[in-house]
Amino acid sequence: MSYACSSCDAQFQSAAGVTQHVALHHDTCAECDESFEDTDALREHVHESH
Ligand SMILES: [Zn+2]
Ligand SMILES: [Zn+2]
Repeated sequence: MSYACSSCDAQFQSAAGVTQHVALHHDTCAECDESFEDTDALREHVHESH
């Protein structure tokens, strides 16, 4: 079973892989699909909201 990125065609072997990918490449939260201007804003959101 593989996990696909919802924003591009990339696929991963684990949910953690997808989470890391969307954070690095799309600045998008994998939990709620909200997007952010930069990685710092995303990191802060994940820390406070999840
Ligand atoms: Zn992607
Ligand atoms: Zn979120």
